[in-house]
Amino acid sequence: MDTHSFSKKKIGVENGEPALTPPPADTAQAAFAKKPKLASSKSKKRDIPEGLWTKCPTCEAMIFDKELDENLKVCPKCQHHFPIGSRERTHSLVETCTFEEMDADMTSVDVLRFKGVSTYKSKLEQYQKNTTLKDAVVTGLCKIGPHRLALGVMEFGFLGGSMGSVVGEKLTRLIERATEKELPVIIISSSGGARMYEGMFSLMQMAKTSAALAYHAQHHLSYISVLTHPTTAGVMASYATLGDLILAEPGAMIGFAGPRVIKDTTQAELPPGFQTAEFLLDHGLIDAIVPRKELKTRLMEYLDYLTVRQKTAAVAP
Ligand SMILES: [Zn+2]
Repeated sequence: MDTHSFSKKKIGVENGEPALTPPPADTAQAAFAKKPKLASSKSKKRDIPEGLWTKCPTCEAMIFDKELDENLKVCPKCQHHFPIGSRERTHSLVETCTFEEMDADMTSVDVLRFKGVSTYKSKLEQYQKNTTLKDAVVTGLCKIGPHRLALGVMEFGFLGGSMGSVVGEKLTRLIERATEKELPVIIISSSGGARMYEGMFSLMQMAKTSAALAYHAQHHLSYISVLTHPTTAGVMASYATLGDLILAEPGAMIGFAGPRVIKDTTQAELPPGFQTAEFLLDHGLIDAIVPRKELKTRLMEYLDYLTVRQKTAAVAP
């Protein structure tokens, strides 16, 4: 009896103001009235299959995702280089089963208890879930062709590849291990710079990584830096530009401050192509532009040369 009178009452309210008052969300009537609308809007979206095609931002061609993956995320029509994850990148370079990952579980501590729109802690959790990585770099010892080396690959998908304490510490440990084992180092960068959530702690990583590379160089060991889109700010101002060889991917944006900041500060028009890999090659900041599909072969060639130089330097008085 109770239930019967309750539902009657609700119907009465609804009939009283049908146009102005939305039905209360907790009633069975309301749920019933809303459901068909939600279902129809969802089914419209489903008409276009998502995640199968990607539009190239340069030539506007629609590329089948599988084709893009097989082509190492490079547009087959115009060679535009899409971002590639650190795992995929590592897989494309190293010899099968040779990658011995280091410090895979190292995670950041929210030292500053940073609170912005959301907390640093929640950001970390969100990106760890999205990328299945603990932070923005993957490091380890591996083999590329016949060469054993220390490899670090940054992940732009993790908080813009920003360098916090974990990125700095993992790279420093990698470089120090390479020095100890007399191995060359290759770091593939992709970063928006230092991680603001860690304030000064992230800026200190610039000095730490640079110092480790200086010790590595004192032992006549080689370091190749590969800059990919985008490599900027604190990373660019530290280990990314300290390579014996500095390579870049075609079309990569590379710089310290953003173009708008530079334009406002200098009050000067910036030249066309400013802060692209091609512009920097013309102006002598980088040594070569290497398309992604050629990177492995080229790295092996450079390592052949650098290892000979390394041996010669070690023998020299
Ligand atoms: Zn294209």
